[in-house]
Amino acid sequence: MSDFITAQDITNLSKCRRIVYLDRHGDPALRVEPSEYERWLMEQGIEFEQQAIADYDLYVVHAPEDPQAAFGATLQLMRHGVEMIYQGTLLYEGLHGRPDLLVRVDGGASRFGGYYYRPVDIKSARRASDSHRHQVMFYCYLLHGVQGFAPDGALLLNGGPEGGGDTEIEVPYAQDEILALLNEVIDTIDGDEPRPFITSACQGCRWRNVCLPLAEKMRDVSLLPGIRRDTWQALHERGVRTLEQVAALTLDELIRVDGIGRKTAPRLLARARAHVEQRAVLVEPPRLAPPVPGESFFDIEGFSHKNVDCYYLLGLLVRRGEEYAFEYDLAERPEDEREMWFSFLDRVDTLDGPVYHYGAYERTAIGRLVERHGGGAPARRFLDRFVDLHRLLKNSVALPLHGYSLKQVAPWLGFEWTGFTQAAPESIVEYHRWLETGERQHLEHVIVYNRDDVLATRVVRDWLLNFSST
Ligand code: SF4
Repeated sequence: MSDFITAQDITNLSKCRRIVYLDRHGDPALRVEPSEYERWLMEQGIEFEQQAIADYDLYVVHAPEDPQAAFGATLQLMRHGVEMIYQGTLLYEGLHGRPDLLVRVDGGASRFGGYYYRPVDIKSARRASDSHRHQVMFYCYLLHGVQGFAPDGALLLNGGPEGGGDTEIEVPYAQDEILALLNEVIDTIDGDEPRPFITSACQGCRWRNVCLPLAEKMRDVSLLPGIRRDTWQALHERGVRTLEQVAALTLDELIRVDGIGRKTAPRLLARARAHVEQRAVLVEPPRLAPPVPGESFFDIEGFSHKNVDCYYLLGLLVRRGEEYAFEYDLAERPEDEREMWFSFLDRVDTLDGPVYHYGAYERTAIGRLVERHGGGAPARRFLDRFVDLHRLLKNSVALPLHGYSLKQVAPWLGFEWTGFTQAAPESIVEYHRWLETGERQHLEHVIVYNRDDVLATRVVRDWLLNFSST
């Protein structure tokens, strides 16, 4: 990690201050390498950027590994007043940025003459997020310093080649806002090491192998799933820092802590006890029907990328008679989604038992499929039978885990994903590998992964039924 402050620091600040700190002071060898999915997203981003600039006449700045040389080359192009600079490097007061494009604007009074430059950044995302806005504002700030003239703002080119989304977004240059963020970055880098606050986002953070073991060693309260940062802070201020200390509190003592109400206190206490005693603790018995023929366990695979929203696999573990069988409908191409959807509706309309799923994704996906293709009446009949096991589990049982995702709960119950693909992002990569290469093994990985997901969902239901009846 260089000593320069970059746009990445500004982006990371909004995710977790500790990332900014560890990027400067942590041991780089302990950072987790990017996953295959993250690498694939980067590849897609570069591909999209190349498509977006293909028709422009550009001056390209090379040597990004030597920022001083790249900055010298960029300055030279700016002095010559070229129209567009691709991947120019800007250095200013310890800050380093590489906007995708610098575009000349006639008028104004920069130190180069009667023209100035403004940044343009290209994103393959569908919408401009705050972090995208902050990133281009950071480039405006750098340009302001380098050219001695403040650009009015920046342009974000968003969305995919298929069109749709906010394709061009003007971002005004809010100097005070970016200065405040820069000061926060500097304070974080120069300040004390922030304590880890464990959330579900840590699963995707490259410092997770540093923070999770540390939080576990400290027995930190943030290991309680779902605890809010302000509640965590309030507990720390009262000297309640460990799981053991929370578990030793009474309900009345917990309720006196800011942010903890009568409803959340028993759950929090049970979760702390589950951690301390390393066992499942019943909070309230779940309302679960016994297994019946016609019941099913349901899971969807889909992606939203470059303005393409696509569901490509609808999988079910169905009980027909006494036997369970895995059945699915597949869109071998994104354009086959409609056909897959109606085939699936025909399949589920013959069933009448409860449909167990894990989390909110499936319900949302069904809504989107109805919006896109219709099938409202059978879809409503299907949705009426939904039972969200994730919600049921979280509300009824406390487990000695940091979170209640299927990938955390099912392994704790002894379930293992057996296939090549072990997580939803990997399934998305495999589906795209199939689309790109036509090699069927990628599709097989997607199917096996979905089968494992529904099998895991059944394991959770069976355990919950069994646990609550003992
Ligand atoms: S693992 Fe979590 S606590 Fe640690 S730096 Fe990343 S987001 Fe922050």
